Amino acid sequence: MLSEAVLILVGDELLSGRTRDVNLYRFSGLLAEKGFPVVHAEVVRDVRSEIAAAVKDAVGDGRVVVVTGGLGPTDDDITVSAVAEAFGLPVSRSPVAEEMVRKQQHLYSSVLPVSALKQADIPRGAIPVLNPAGIAPGLVLPVGNGVVICIPGVPSESSALLPLCLAEAGIVPRKAELIRFVRTWGLKENNLFDSLSDLAGKHGVVPAFLPSPGRVDVKVSGSGADGFCRDVIKKLGSRVYSTVRDETLEEALGSKLMKSGFVLATAESCTGGGIGSGITAIPGASGWYSGGVITYSDKLKTRLLGVQEQTLENHGAVSKQTALEMARGVRRVTGAHCSVSVTGIAGPAGGTDQKPVGTVWTALCCGDTESAFVWHLGGNRESVREGAAARALGTLFELLP
Ligand code: ATP
Ligand code: MG
Repeated sequence: MLSEAVLILVGDELLSGRTRDVNLYRFSGLLAEKGFPVVHAEVVRDVRSEIAAAVKDAVGDGRVVVVTGGLGPTDDDITVSAVAEAFGLPVSRSPVAEEMVRKQQHLYSSVLPVSALKQADIPRGAIPVLNPAGIAPGLVLPVGNGVVICIPGVPSESSALLPLCLAEAGIVPRKAELIRFVRTWGLKENNLFDSLSDLAGKHGVVPAFLPSPGRVDVKVSGSGADGFCRDVIKKLGSRVYSTVRDETLEEALGSKLMKSGFVLATAESCTGGGIGSGITAIPGASGWYSGGVITYSDKLKTRLLGVQEQTLENHGAVSKQTALEMARGVRRVTGAHCSVSVTGIAGPAGGTDQKPVGTVWTALCCGDTESAFVWHLGGNRESVREGAAARALGTLFELLP
């Protein structure tokens, strides 16, 4: 019986560093949700014999093998013939696949290029699946107790096709292993590990800590997972912004703002618009975000946000006073209910003994509340900037009901 999955990602460009793979991340999540954990993934070159060997090896005794990439119409797209070679199957034109190709090609242009029909040549026994986001059909090929699913590499196509191919293969969701996430902001991985080790022992779980700048996800599975998560949430309070695997800090904050009917504005210096960029990546953010300003220079902080020259002179651009005046200023300019600001030293230059690289001030104004926080962040320029953005958002998340 099918119980686990293997992914094979095909493409020289994935190995040469030209293309950053996204299919592994998306597919393994989807397959795990369906109860078919990915137990192995492999990246192979555009070489027929290597693709064939990898697929043959992967299908083993009853696995779901998903192969992506190399399904297009050009000569370098050889996945279909490689899969056919792996199992000694002839390849021939499928009228059903041809109809799918013609139907989808028509969406792009009225003339069918001769080469497009190559995408209707499939191995014997393969079932074509209409590609709603492109031309090349997906293929489902039962092999022994297993099944091989071939999908184009283009991420927008592969994401749309995988669920359809799984359905075609008769793969119904199984009871997935219980996996829980607790997503935190503003805590360091080591500290988190230390502070949760007692709880992990109590509930008999081995949590995984998945850090990114300013955020750490705690992932846990097994029968003790729910009890562990409940205790972690109790312990960490508002440092937990979500227990949903894919919910970002920006989304969690947006939900709170929507609930309160508040609108947010941002004033950014060292993050250079990173906060606004994270927020505006969320569809519907206009319901709770009015916009922001990037005031990188002192002059602009004064001219656009009304930060006092005296403040800058006396306390410096990276200071509690400047952060607060930035937050007040952007709220005044935009008329938003709430505002957050960030000013810091991202490095590598610009640090002093009093204010080393990684010193960041964030401030917020919301209703009658004003507060400012200083953070001492480690890592390189990128992680200081991302960590600062997370902390600015996190402090507001913490404040809101
Ligand atoms: P096409 O019909 O476009 O040729 P295809 O199935 O043949 O599709 P490829 O030729 O392997 O796929 O790749 C097409 C595009 O999709 C390329 O730009 C490639 O970089 C990108 N791509 C392929 N695989 C991945 C992946 N795993 N992650 C992200 N992008 C990918
Ligand atoms: Mg291609």
